[in-house]
Amino acid sequence: MKAAILRAIGKPLAIEEVPAPSPQAGEVLIRVEACGVCHSDVHLADGDWDLLKPITKLPLILGHEAAGRVTALGEGVSELHLGDRVGVPWIHWTCGECEFCREGRETLCSNQKITGCTVDGGFAEFLTAPATHAARLPAILSAAEAAPLLCAGLTVYKAIKASGIRPGERLAVFGIGGLGHLAVQIARALDIRVCGVDVADDKLELAKSLGAEWTVNAALETVHKKVRSFGRVHAALVTSASPAAYEAALRCLRGGGTLLVVGMANQPFKVSAVSLISAETRIVASAVGTREDLRELFALVERFPIRCRVEERPLEEVGRVFEELKSGAVLGRIVLTS
Ligand SMILES: [Zn+2]
Ligand SMILES: [Zn+2]
Repeated sequence: MKAAILRAIGKPLAIEEVPAPSPQAGEVLIRVEACGVCHSDVHLADGDWDLLKPITKLPLILGHEAAGRVTALGEGVSELHLGDRVGVPWIHWTCGECEFCREGRETLCSNQKITGCTVDGGFAEFLTAPATHAARLPAILSAAEAAPLLCAGLTVYKAIKASGIRPGERLAVFGIGGLGHLAVQIARALDIRVCGVDVADDKLELAKSLGAEWTVNAALETVHKKVRSFGRVHAALVTSASPAAYEAALRCLRGGGTLLVVGMANQPFKVSAVSLISAETRIVASAVGTREDLRELFALVERFPIRCRVEERPLEEVGRVFEELKSGAVLGRIVLTS
């Protein structure tokens, strides 16, 4: 099969012919129809994260937003059938036995396998996944539309849920990229009022077209002053990896507000204990989501017109797509097809 292979950290991906994987007991083989390119793929390939670098498999097939069809079943698979449309998210497998799994917090599983990091992912014609963890896709979505929900959509859905924000309340979304533009739509579906914050006018226009009531250009305006002019927010979701975005987000919160930590900023951001205490601010960090969160998101997508803005590209263009992501030029999500 054709696959984009990372042979060494920091090296460009190479398109190669490699043997297709065969499903082991409990696994399914999936013909990949679309796989979203997440900024995390770029960070993994560049070795930017100290936490994941030591556990990154090499050589590796990246890609953790894989959508396709089941084409073969490993021994003992009863959950899925040939031809089923499924997606493979970041969390590839969880043990079901550790203390976190038993508490229903499988995103914290101590033994988890990660798609496109500790095991091969979807930048290829085929991949395998445990039948227990491959997610059935909603019939109304194409593979290209479904793929970005497996990481980008799930991550922001779970973060918004974790904030406890309610209908009619205000949410600021910092960074209107792949995650942020889905966050705007998910929040609107939940009847939450949205302010989009970015440094690019085309991204702010996109946020507006998706239902953001207010927008702030952080390159031109003092974010907290502008946000306060229409009302401090109940929660601020930071999908940007910039420490400055986190610091600005904290200043936009109303008393008792929640800072949602999602963007993987490599540098620390400053927090004042006095400000946190006097405003009783909550800081909630959130990583992807559980299988249950994904089912909830798909149910929401079936009821509301939440659609990722996608651009399809052939697998061979993965290197160029990485460059575009690094330069911040991608509007919505690019998905690779093979
Ligand atoms: Zn991702
Ligand atoms: Zn576990």
